[in-house]
Amino acid sequence: MEALADVIVDRVVPALDHPFTYRVPPSMRNDIAVGQLVTVPFRSSVVSGVVYRLYSGPATPEMKEIVAVRTPQPVLTPALLDLAQWMSERYLCFLPQVLRAMIPAAVRRGGEFRSIPQWYRVSARRQGRQSLKQAVYDFIAAQELVDRRTVLDAFPKAAPALRSLVAEHAVEVISRPMSAPLTVEPGHVLSRPQSEVVRSIEAKPGHGWLLEGVTGSGKTEVYLALIDRMVHSDQEALVLLPEIALTPQVVMRFRARYGDQVGVWHSGLSQAERWTTWDNVRRHVTSVVVGARSAIFLPFSRLGMIVIDEEHEPSYKQEDHPRYHTREVALWRGQREGATVVLGSATPSLESRYAAERGELGHVWLPERAMGRALPSVELVDMREELKNGNREIFSRTLRDALCAALADKEQAILFLNRRGYSTFVLCRQCGHALQCPECAVSLTYHRMNHRLTCHYCLREFPVVTRCPECGSEKIRYFGAGTERVVEEVQRLCPDARVLRADRDTMTRARDYASLYLKFYQGDADVLVGTQMIAKGMDFPHVSLVGVVAADTALHLPDYRSAERTFQLLVQAGGRSGRGAKPGRVVIQTYNPDHYAVRLSRTHDYARFYEEELTFRQATQYPPFADLWLLVFEADAGSAAAALAQQAADELRRKWPNLILLGPAPAPLQKVQGRFRYHVLIKIVNPADDGVSLSRGLKDLQSRVPGLSITRDPYFLM
Ligand code: ADP
Ligand code: ZN
Ligand code: ZN
Repeated sequence: MEALADVIVDRVVPALDHPFTYRVPPSMRNDIAVGQLVTVPFRSSVVSGVVYRLYSGPATPEMKEIVAVRTPQPVLTPALLDLAQWMSERYLCFLPQVLRAMIPAAVRRGGEFRSIPQWYRVSARRQGRQSLKQAVYDFIAAQELVDRRTVLDAFPKAAPALRSLVAEHAVEVISRPMSAPLTVEPGHVLSRPQSEVVRSIEAKPGHGWLLEGVTGSGKTEVYLALIDRMVHSDQEALVLLPEIALTPQVVMRFRARYGDQVGVWHSGLSQAERWTTWDNVRRHVTSVVVGARSAIFLPFSRLGMIVIDEEHEPSYKQEDHPRYHTREVALWRGQREGATVVLGSATPSLESRYAAERGELGHVWLPERAMGRALPSVELVDMREELKNGNREIFSRTLRDALCAALADKEQAILFLNRRGYSTFVLCRQCGHALQCPECAVSLTYHRMNHRLTCHYCLREFPVVTRCPECGSEKIRYFGAGTERVVEEVQRLCPDARVLRADRDTMTRARDYASLYLKFYQGDADVLVGTQMIAKGMDFPHVSLVGVVAADTALHLPDYRSAERTFQLLVQAGGRSGRGAKPGRVVIQTYNPDHYAVRLSRTHDYARFYEEELTFRQATQYPPFADLWLLVFEADAGSAAAALAQQAADELRRKWPNLILLGPAPAPLQKVQGRFRYHVLIKIVNPADDGVSLSRGLKDLQSRVPGLSITRDPYFLM
């Protein structure tokens, strides 16, 4: 018997996706632990690996010895190692791929970073006009003591303001050890519905919950109250936000409450900053982390609560290896580590709402806005009528008048385009009919390349039309208006308006969001024009008008979630209005006022929407009534991609004759970066039948077929 270690080596070996066994040399026996990084010989080289298991057993002659232990402490907890195993099975990825997602690059390389903390606190009262400087001062004043990084997280361009505040002796700089506890700022007194929610959740620790609360109902206030208890009982809490760079004010609320006990985690951080947060979590210096998706892998070992705010957001789905859904990982982790998981949303995903209905999640509600504020009133404008009345502009008269009125009153407005993906759909401007596949009831996508219409579910092709099959009109339009057009239009209507534009072209880095947010928040602009990326979470007290320029764009995407996404976007967009003292107004322009996703957004009627959508999903056998797997085949030539896809489809049909298998056919995005793409879609209506053997078969297929990637429960069907 000898001391042995199973090690997950940092090399993807498709046929051998399991830990390899090594001998532990006697000199190492006292310092080696599960979860540590080690160096091991592998094939003809030396690679890094993570200790997965330690035991004693019989050694074989070909077993090699561990070369070195690279980290004094484990970098993964036992729970995270279990999670890695589960993820590699569930999402068909290799263990090293999961570990690379779990362990920050700086840690994998064994590097250490040290930052010299600088702290600020106010030393004299200051009351200036509304400016960045005053905002920074108020921020510091609200927190008693705050470190430089926190200030710059919240206000990326605050460095000059900080210097000047110090120079005028309004703020002083001190140094202070990281671990000194701060006094915790007390929160608001909870309303009765809020305390009932808190009581329900606390009565069943370690459970999963859906918190369904309208926009502005105080969900964040509930998270804070729940986390207070965690922090006081020496447990840790993780709060996930869909796009953290977009919601600096949520981070500020947590900072204001818990000071430097809060860590931040998102893609905009430097490696050193990430290392610091990661290390603080590991050493229990940080007990609350507010972060984006990948924060779910932080090495907490006293985790008491995971909150997923806006749990319906598609950004929780990772579309690259490992292709996980954060909600599923959080629920798994919560169960394994005994942590309560709270999923919060005004418009829950169908999956979560269905799980709550079936009792798999607890269900709590906040049906009204906090402080007796009203939900904004929503007007639908039928753009077909506008056209009939001779208005061919992108703004209806209603929206134009509302915009001018808001600007005249010195209020702010947000205009959404609600555009997603790159596809173009085909719409009749006369009757609002969008060309659909007769079999699948999803919109057809126009392909410029071959000038044809394709259904991306059954993957059938149709010729291009010039006449509406519904009403015979020739007012057929290939849709796709951009934010630039909308900005031009605003400037033409109101030449004095200061307009900001927010879309994937203008905002590439996390800092861009924060500075845009600040600009609009401070009132340096009157109108914000953007895509759905600005619909979530943003809280601007002076916005009295929200206009949705084209509600239908998401409705006609070739995606079974298109109605769900549309409803969510419309309700969330509307939720940005009237968050201050004044009531808000929302104008939604649509060619489909009768579609349930549009119609029900007017009254924020999630319950009715859920009923209608669930009926549709059941009838068409889409999730949550089926499991979907998307297979994407990529090759340098179209014929090669098609052949790969055909071969794989034939093999799957032979091995699993009962499978519902759609395709192969060209993907909606047929060519990406010079590579041709083909799709096969697998639908499993009764998972118990094929589940395990199928997922093994798919994993095997994925490792054999070059250019094949497989996604379980895909969110991106392009
Ligand atoms: P949500 O997260 O559901 O959108 P928030 O937590 O942001 O809602 O609350 C909306 C607004 O109402 C915030 O400005 C918040 O400070 C305020 N608010 C929420 N609950 C209370 C309360 N119990 N007392 C006072 N103000 C509250
Ligand atoms: Zn079809
Ligand atoms: Zn028509």
